[in-house]
Amino acid sequence: MAIEYKEVPHEVLAIAQELIDQYHEQLKECKIGFVFRSEASISGGKMVLGTTGKVTEKIKPLLSDELDILIVLAEDQYALMNSLRRKALIDHELCHIVNNLNTGGWTTKAHDINEFKEIVERYGLWSYDLMNIGEAVAKAYQLEMPAITEVTFEHKGQVVTLNAESRRKLEKTLEGG
Ligand SMILES: [Zn+2]
Repeated sequence: MAIEYKEVPHEVLAIAQELIDQYHEQLKECKIGFVFRSEASISGGKMVLGTTGKVTEKIKPLLSDELDILIVLAEDQYALMNSLRRKALIDHELCHIVNNLNTGGWTTKAHDINEFKEIVERYGLWSYDLMNIGEAVAKAYQLEMPAITEVTFEHKGQVVTLNAESRRKLEKTLEGG
């Protein structure tokens, strides 16, 4: 099926507004646009739930509004998420946006962490980045983050729901495919 880009429902904008008020005050000055992409893309063997990018001069003429940043969300995956995961996804994308102090313009930053699971399994929190995030991960485990105990997504046309136990088993299968 051809990939389509379309307007997001009001819900997305309402969640974003709430998150900006709560956690991202600095983004009040930033003009952020959201669009749905009908199907998640795959990048580096991983499903892309969302992307956040600067609006380049090349894209600008295609947009009706003057925007600084464009957030693209995978509609098919979004549809499978419960409200807390939707919030987590949008919050995640908003975390990518930063003000470039040199130019005063808006730009994006990379994730706090980018690591292979097996490296953590073998060496633990071996890098500064991991150490930095380790505490937050440990806390999430302790609290068991009860609101998100299951993750539903689509893989090869099948809707898969995972909890902590079945996740480990299924990861192996997914790695193989
Ligand atoms: Zn990201």
